[in-house]
Amino acid sequence: MRIKRGREKPIRNQHPWIYSGAISQAENAGDGELVTVVDHKDRFLARGYWNSQSQIQVRVMTWRDEAIDADWWRKTLSRALSLRETQFVNFENAACRLVNAESDFIPGLIIDRYGDWYVLQALTRYIDSQKGAIIAALADVTGAQNIYERSDVEARKLEGLQPAAGLLRGGPLPDVVEIDEGARYLVDIKNGQKTGFYLDQRDNRRLLRELMHQRRQNAHDKLRLLNLFCYSGGFALAAVHFGALHSVNVDASRRALEMAERNFALNGYDEAAHGESAEFILADAFNYLHYCVREKVSFDFIVLDPPKLAQRKTEIQPAARGYKDLNLNAFKLVEHGGYLMTFSCSGAISRDLFRKIVFGALADSGRQAQVVRELSASADHPVALTFPEGDYLTGLLLRVF
Ligand code: SAH
Repeated sequence: MRIKRGREKPIRNQHPWIYSGAISQAENAGDGELVTVVDHKDRFLARGYWNSQSQIQVRVMTWRDEAIDADWWRKTLSRALSLRETQFVNFENAACRLVNAESDFIPGLIIDRYGDWYVLQALTRYIDSQKGAIIAALADVTGAQNIYERSDVEARKLEGLQPAAGLLRGGPLPDVVEIDEGARYLVDIKNGQKTGFYLDQRDNRRLLRELMHQRRQNAHDKLRLLNLFCYSGGFALAAVHFGALHSVNVDASRRALEMAERNFALNGYDEAAHGESAEFILADAFNYLHYCVREKVSFDFIVLDPPKLAQRKTEIQPAARGYKDLNLNAFKLVEHGGYLMTFSCSGAISRDLFRKIVFGALADSGRQAQVVRELSASADHPVALTFPEGDYLTGLLLRVF
């Protein structure tokens, strides 16, 4: 794969994506096969995999002239694993992301761990063809007995691939797998969203928990949390730990809310024994916020964690209107001195733009707010410094007056 003169700089700078415009000549390349990338003088630049059906025609696996073989897989998976070892992997029922695609220098591959289950997502043609080698290496470095595939994602269409899901090793897969993050959660690996759980929000759930602990010490009344886009109850369960909390959990998915209720029960909060109480509301969160504004309902904490509103760059404008609407109404509902934790997981919306959108919402709400913390994905979702595209989750913890 020969690169046009003057177009090799991003590759030398270790950006993993090569677009068709940079390529001058492709010899004997088959879709989903490894290629060696050279400059206009045939000097080695990188090795990666090719797919003519994708906009990103080459994804780089290495910038060294080395073979991508069984040894490479073991070495590269071990490197990814070593980042997580100290923090996440050494206790029972731990859950974390082990491989974060481009940001762990393996484009197209995601591996999450839930207790003794490993969930693999193959997003591209080459990675799909290497599943056998990946499973062998994963079993080798982790001792994984149980591996399930959740490659049923839209992104595969861009590669000309069908969705795929099912057992790859071990089993049988139980209906739910229990994980422990301080609070306990049930994860439905087969039918859940993503690979079953939003691991990327773990550090932010922990932050909410700490904040709640501090607030509790000064509060006399039961605190109120509005957990919008709650999925299986993640944020509310992290917060409820310190007791005397009323949480309102809103999601548009019935399955998600059922799991949230089960998770509350699992943690012993099915009766209001310690002053906790929880509501589970099947609703569109945009409408629910409008309703709360109309009814003048207020909250001490609001978590706003919507799905990706901008799938691509062309959707930035309507997405920005959506984020603004959500944040404007959320500002109106926060008690004086309360907190808003607000997120965007749209990669197309930069940190700067998100801040501007939230600023616009604040201005219209007539409230005052301080940034207490900038938020991003958990530490097991590292971002390669050369790959800013990997920094998709952005958020702000705001104190509101
Ligand atoms: N905060 C969650 C993850 C949220 S993911 C956690 O920590 O686990 C986004 C959630 O929004 C999904 O559960 C999805 O079902 C829900 N959702 C999508 N569109 C929605 C809408 N319009 N109104 C309410 N919920 C919606």
